[in-house]
Amino acid sequence: MRITVEHQNDNLPYHIFEAIQIFFGVKNDFVFIRNSESLRIMVNDGQDGVLCIDDTDKKQSKRDVYVFLSKVLGYESPWGCMTGIRPVKVANTLYERNHTTEDIRKHFKEFYLIRDDKIELIINTANVQKRFLEEQKRSNNYIGFYSGIPFCPTRCLYCSFTSNPIGRYKKVVDKYLDVLEEEIKGTAQLIKEKNLVIRTLYLGGGTPTSLNEEQFERYLSMLTDNLELSCVSEFSLEAGRPDSITLEKLRIARKHGVNRISINPQTMNNKTLKLIGRMHTKEQIIEAFHFARETGFENINMDIIAGLPDETLEMFENTLEEIEKLDPDSLTVHTLSIKKAANLKEDIEKQKLLNAEIVDTMVDKAENFASRLNMRPYYMYRQKNILGNHENVAYCKQGCESPYNIHIMEEDQTIMAVGAGAVTKVVYDNGRIERAFNMKSVEDYISRKEIGIERKRALLSL
Ligand code: SF4
Repeated sequence: MRITVEHQNDNLPYHIFEAIQIFFGVKNDFVFIRNSESLRIMVNDGQDGVLCIDDTDKKQSKRDVYVFLSKVLGYESPWGCMTGIRPVKVANTLYERNHTTEDIRKHFKEFYLIRDDKIELIINTANVQKRFLEEQKRSNNYIGFYSGIPFCPTRCLYCSFTSNPIGRYKKVVDKYLDVLEEEIKGTAQLIKEKNLVIRTLYLGGGTPTSLNEEQFERYLSMLTDNLELSCVSEFSLEAGRPDSITLEKLRIARKHGVNRISINPQTMNNKTLKLIGRMHTKEQIIEAFHFARETGFENINMDIIAGLPDETLEMFENTLEEIEKLDPDSLTVHTLSIKKAANLKEDIEKQKLLNAEIVDTMVDKAENFASRLNMRPYYMYRQKNILGNHENVAYCKQGCESPYNIHIMEEDQTIMAVGAGAVTKVVYDNGRIERAFNMKSVEDYISRKEIGIERKRALLSL
């Protein structure tokens, strides 16, 4: 199958590319581009269909391309022609402009051609988010604070985060913590100068629990000693890798006020865990979960992934059954996304990735499962190159939402971020958003330590 796009410009218009991209990975199509007078799309040299577009209205053109290819290729995306990673933000914006739920449903169905179940997912998620967005509007000096530890026990096959195997970096971890401490202190000073109030604190990475117990105690003390945390409602810790968790680290986390923790199996099948480069077993996940309950954690999140290589529907169901026995307070269901940085991209041919229908069923099963556990969706996002054009959804029991994640996705709150690869995002009163990027590699972060603070200061002075 060959799709040929003829267009005037040197570069293919992005909105047209986005519409075509919906079909990547679904049909394994080849896209060929060349210059021409008009914008015209042909499939199989015109044998299967030709579309000529008056490209004056970008949204309409994108829709036209989607409808055309959908017919020719016989595939309908669950999200219709909607691209972009934040569908709930679109609904929240419409609510803000006084549109009714019925108007929004109609718009999503008739213009974007989104499937009914996805429309309900958006509406339900937006409803749960309402009180968090209203709080932010009332108190616009509330911010989130993110701190990153860029180390993990090993690197997962699909990882595209700032993560380095801690075994190889042992010698620099203390130096990293020295530099991070300086950045935390400098950022605390900036927050004070600007009268900002930390409402959520999120420790991610990497996996912060990869630090040894002594370093972990030091890390949490650095944060709680230097930041003003009296207004914090959520203090989250990514302890994603059970092979990095000990009872003592969980006690340290509790002592410092952590009230939400993520223990992420991704799958409860030992064979897959090995295949995706996670050198731990499902038994370790279960043990770590019980440790967390024993130490008093009442808000435990678990992440899973639908569409992992070589996983069958039965294996996915097994993951859900095992998780049900543990009864976590929230469950984040990702659909596998093939990211550029991940090794998986190279292996896409070899790995025999699952087809869209199986992933569809997995995603459905996870949704029904979450509802059986009395969980509701509270934030969601989409990614490029996600299997079956699905999405990532976080479900939780009432009262166990993570406001940090809601605000990150809805982009209504400033996030001050420290650590290698961390991204600070400042949301100004007029809604404009600017970002400051920290150095990604641990070596650069350490050797150019002043940059993080300088960039944050510059953003806050705009
Ligand atoms: S645990 Fe997360 S951050 Fe660490 S390697 Fe795996 S995907 Fe990357």
